[in-house]
Amino acid sequence: MSLCLVANWKLNGSKEFNHQWALEFFKNFNGQNFSSIGIAPASIYIDHLKKVIADKSIKIGAQNIDLVETGPRTGEISASMIKDLGCEFSIIGHSERRILFHETNQIICHKLIQANNNFVVPILCVGESMQEKQDNTTFKVIEQQIIGALKDASELSAIIIAYEPVWAIGSGKIPNPKEINSMHEMIKDVVQSRFPKIGLESVLYGGSVNLENASCLFEQKNIDGALIGGSSLDGKEFALIANVFNDLRV
Ligand code: PEP
Repeated sequence: MSLCLVANWKLNGSKEFNHQWALEFFKNFNGQNFSSIGIAPASIYIDHLKKVIADKSIKIGAQNIDLVETGPRTGEISASMIKDLGCEFSIIGHSERRILFHETNQIICHKLIQANNNFVVPILCVGESMQEKQDNTTFKVIEQQIIGALKDASELSAIIIAYEPVWAIGSGKIPNPKEINSMHEMIKDVVQSRFPKIGLESVLYGGSVNLENASCLFEQKNIDGALIGGSSLDGKEFALIANVFNDLRV
């Protein structure tokens, strides 16, 4: 089964955090379908988290990879390295990386190819800013981000897209779930019509997902799951969100 709920822990965590989180998560999660759940810790904790999660089939992934395989690039981590640690996916092109680390569609495209070459499923993040929303250009912006990232990577065997409005991330605000549903429909349409050789697995929503808004999001047909930042840091809340997803969708 494709990933449905992915935790993005960003720049948070420690070995102790991994243990506590797992304790809370397994105490509260009442589903069986571990393989639809993914966690992206800081890369330095991937190995430790894998051991803590042990035999459960929860997928572990990275928050970012480099755009090349090897070379004089101090501080970078490649797709083959995260694969070596047992990662199955990587978030790519998160808005924080686009904004803080100046990642362009071109760079993101190279990262998608690296992921694909190493059998790591990329989770490509796209999303409009508040200004772009106010200018009524959301549709165009998302379409351009998708085309810009995929036009030179048109034969990826698998990809997940996360629609994450920049203004919704960490703000406590979310778009109307019906609007998200239409956006996801459009994203599926754009990928399937323009890039028929790309295997689009699912379209996740990201931006201030929490236990209160989870059910109205997961009721929408085209919302295949969620990429969750802040609320995923609490193992119990993440488990309860996963329970809501399971009740509605599995
Ligand atoms: C994210 O940054 O990917 C995200 C969805 O964050 P949050 O859930 O905290 O808005």
